[in-house]
This record gives sequence, structure tokens and C-alpha cells, in this order.
Amino acid sequence: MRKYIIGVDVGGTSVKFGKFDLEGILLDKWSIRTDRSDKGEHILPAIVASIKETVDLKEIKGIGIGVPGPVKDNVVVHCVNLNWGRRDLVQELHLLLQDKDIIIRAGNDANVAAAGEMYKGAARGYRTVVMYTLGTGIGGGIVLNGELMEGVNGAGAELGHTIVDFRHNFPCNCGKKGCLETVASATGIISLAKENLIRSKAKSPLRRYESFSAKKVIDYAKEGDFISLKTIDEAMKYLALAIANVSLTLDPEIILIGGGVSHAGQFLIDLIEKYFYQMTDPFIKQANIQIASLGNDAGIYGCAYLIQ
Ligand SMILES: [Zn+2]
Repeated sequence: MRKYIIGVDVGGTSVKFGKFDLEGILLDKWSIRTDRSDKGEHILPAIVASIKETVDLKEIKGIGIGVPGPVKDNVVVHCVNLNWGRRDLVQELHLLLQDKDIIIRAGNDANVAAAGEMYKGAARGYRTVVMYTLGTGIGGGIVLNGELMEGVNGAGAELGHTIVDFRHNFPCNCGKKGCLETVASATGIISLAKENLIRSKAKSPLRRYESFSAKKVIDYAKEGDFISLKTIDEAMKYLALAIANVSLTLDPEIILIGGGVSHAGQFLIDLIEKYFYQMTDPFIKQANIQIASLGNDAGIYGCAYLIQ
């Protein structure tokens, strides 16, 4: 009997697996290293081998996969982080699994994370969810009426690359300048802090360090350090601008902030809300902006949701 769902969250450094029952209860999880050599040719065979080691294929109802790139109708359009070009995951996995009865579904990792939070996390009970994952970069996810928003090119919900800044012109990994990710990700926070340290003569504990993390800046901001607070305030103003524009486009039920930076918690939400309401008035008087709750597991939960 087919009683398990496998969620596979493929990242540039590791592949995370989750074994779920049909109700979406996580029974087991593990991970393997991502081997990106030879144009990423070894990734799918390694995924299949790892699943076979853990679960009898005849017991698997479906495998959901999240990948860090645009996905349209279960086909990866391209994926720089995995050295992948276009890949039809359903066809390739069915060939590797030798079992066409296993359902295969794929989605963009950030969209899938938003779905995971809707399925079992902070957005449970909602059907229209917008999620920003603030890490080294910014992942954007949108679920509209329960469906992942892929768009016509698979580039729907690339919220981290919406342009919000014309002042600093920090370069983005995508080749543009001024993307949200350049000013509100962990990397963006560090860039803003370094600039503020140069522009201002104010004392700051940050001046003690040759290099520092975004977490350091957040911690000092919470302690009231002027430069750190100015930096986080500015980063969250940019994020609020992005969220306000998406809110006035979609008017979602809930907006989630996830990723490493989100560990700062309510401190960030308060700063975002301060600007958000200025920017959405008079149309939005009450918004539901929350911290995501599943952490690194949001992806595998979302992959399981794809099979539901
Ligand atoms: Zn960009």
C-alpha cells in the first residue's frame, strides 16, 4: 500500500528529505550533500538512491521537489545554483525510479516554503499567503487560493528581485542593481551597515570589527546602537515598501517573514509595520504580518503539500 509522501528540498549545498504520512505528519527527515559537478547530472540519481535506501518505493504515493529556480508545470526552466538547464523532473524521475505510479510534483523552493507554512506552519488555515525568506538572498513565495503562483515563465513571486532602491545601487546576484535582496537580506543589512559606518561619525560597537554578520547588526540595534538601528530601520523600510506593493496588488490574508534574519522576531515586524501602514493607507488598515514558524523544514512540508 502506498502510505508515504516524500518531500525533497534541493538546495545549492544540501538536499533535505522528509518522509510524511498521508496526513502530512513528518515521520523522518535526513539530508545529503548536493553534488553540483558535471552540470548537476548526479543530483537526481543521488536523490533517488537516498530515497530507496530509506523507503520501499512501493509504499510511496508521491514525491514533491522544491528547487532554487523558476519551475513551470513541473519543468525546471533553469537553475544556476544547481548548474541545471531545463529539466523535465517528472520524466527524469520516473525513468530513474522505474515506477510511473509515483506522483511527481515540483515547484520553486520559496513558493514551496510558502505552501509548507500554509500546510502546517504559521499560515495554517489561510489560502492566500505571501512569504519572504530573508537569508543570504531573499526568496519570495506566493500561494494564491491554495495554488503556488508560478506565472507564465515560472518566475512568479520572485519578490527578492523586485527593485526598491535607486540610492545605494548595490549589485545583485541576478545582474541588476537595487533589488530588494541587495538591501533587506542578511547580505543587504551588512552592505547598509558598512555604508552607514562610512557616512556617519557616530560611535558604534560595529566599528570594532573588520567584518560582521547581519545578526550582530540586529543584536546591536536591539541594544539601541544608533548606526545598527538606523541600518535595520532602513532595511525594514525597503522590505515594507516591497510588502506594501505586493499587498496592494494581491491583498493577501497573511504575509510571512522567514529565513535566518527573521529570528529577530517581533522587533522586525514592528519596524516593517511602522512603514507598511504609511505606504498602504488609505486602502489597507489592518494587515497580518507574522514570523514564519517551520524554519528550514518549511520546504519539505511544502513539497509534501504538492502531493496532497
Ligand atoms: Zn536581483
